[in-house]
Amino acid sequence: MVLDLLASPFGLIIAGYAAWYALKCAVAPWGRCRRCTGTGRDGNRRRPCRRCNGSGIRVRVGRRIYRWVRAEYTAGTDRKAPK
Ligand SMILES: [Zn+2]
Repeated sequence: MVLDLLASPFGLIIAGYAAWYALKCAVAPWGRCRRCTGTGRDGNRRRPCRRCNGSGIRVRVGRRIYRWVRAEYTAGTDRKAPK
């Protein structure tokens, strides 16, 4: 069933996009801030963007998910933790 979906054009597009997004998260974990679109300014005002603190970049959602999964995995296999 999963293979049937992957063989269809729609499934290929979804799988291709997922692979491309995973590659982007691995190579470039930073994306443009969506609030200020990478300018680092809050609208037309001169003060820095509140969401990215003026840097114009943000961590990609996929990268944050990856880090969360890694943290859970690492914490789950910590043998030094008390019982
Ligand atoms: Zn911003």
